[in-house]
Amino acid sequence: MNILNSLLKIKLHWQILIAFILAIVFGIFLKDQVIYVSWMGDVFLRLLRMIVIPLILSSIISGLVNIGSEGSLGRLGLKTFGYYLTTSTFAIITGLLLVNIIKPGIGVDISSIYIDESISIERPRISEVLIQIVPDNIFYALANNEFLSVIFFAIIAGIFISKMDKKNNIVLSDFFNAVFELFMKITMFVIKLAPLGIFGLIVKVVAEQEDFVNMVTGLGAFMFTVLAGILIHSLITLPLITRFIGKARPFKHLSNVKTTLMTAFSTASSAAALPLNMKETNENSGVSHKITNFTIPIGTTINMDGTAIYISAVVMFIAQAQGVVMGIQEQILILITALMSSIGTAGVPMASLVIITIILEVLGLPLEMIALILPVDRILDMFRTATNVWGDSCGAVVIAKSEGEKTFV
Ligand code: ASP
Repeated sequence: MNILNSLLKIKLHWQILIAFILAIVFGIFLKDQVIYVSWMGDVFLRLLRMIVIPLILSSIISGLVNIGSEGSLGRLGLKTFGYYLTTSTFAIITGLLLVNIIKPGIGVDISSIYIDESISIERPRISEVLIQIVPDNIFYALANNEFLSVIFFAIIAGIFISKMDKKNNIVLSDFFNAVFELFMKITMFVIKLAPLGIFGLIVKVVAEQEDFVNMVTGLGAFMFTVLAGILIHSLITLPLITRFIGKARPFKHLSNVKTTLMTAFSTASSAAALPLNMKETNENSGVSHKITNFTIPIGTTINMDGTAIYISAVVMFIAQAQGVVMGIQEQILILITALMSSIGTAGVPMASLVIITIILEVLGLPLEMIALILPVDRILDMFRTATNVWGDSCGAVVIAKSEGEKTFV
């Protein structure tokens, strides 16, 4: 009891770190007992997912009705889209450059790697993905976690609420402000459970890693390429942008959002980390609700820097392993398709695989080859999700600064 009390008194990020280390030890040595604790991870994840959709809806609507003039909404929208598309482009270029230099796929023995012929992944066309942003049934979109459609509806609703007569305008604005406050309060409670949730999630991942040594030897060069890209983007590119364009202190901000990043890492879902990201970017780094409410939900869906690095690396890796030469034209095609298709992809585990199949199809490469990277997908998903979320949060800081806000970083 005393140990528990003292544990509860230490700062949250230390609790998470301890949970993390314990989870690795537990996962390695007590594989068979994992089910007794992994449920905590599932509950944590479900709690986060429970919050996300109402939070996106209410945060964007309450953000927009408070933004006021349409001019500033247009400006904010353009900045947000422009910023996120630019950083994703940088990420894809980083990924492409690294695979061209390291060439992880050359000489990979395809025959020795098990190819699951039964693999079947739904492959939407890019045009369909874009059209489906407009929901034909908002309740369906809400119930099925269709993020972009919900964002689209929320933007429309926010704009038109601010055009309503005073009486009804106040009713709806107050309602959505109140809903937003409610879900932020629930987020505060869920954050407290993060150490237990992260423990449960990591234990499971560690225990499920079958043949770690084999995996690292077979796909080591590929993993190295992806991780190098992620590190360069997260620790060099994004901090430079935050420093010189945002005029903010990137590493102070990094330390402010660490619970969010740890949650993204262990859940492998940027959507699940969204409530925490909004809270920490607002409370710890001082970005206003006006900016976080708008930029972070949008960033979570359209901005996936880690994923962008990963998909460009995977596609090139597969091409190299197949002995297909990718010229500059094909690589530009990869860049454009990766950018467009990542816009409609929700931040859930393994979402990249859908984008990868789209690009393989466009390039005429065999889809089954995706099985090559499946053994390392989950581990890399954790790193790329943390990068995705970090990119969203840096975006909020840079945009806030460009709007003249005084943040804490
Ligand atoms: N898991 C990632 C995310 O949630 C998406 C992906 O790359 O699969 O952001």
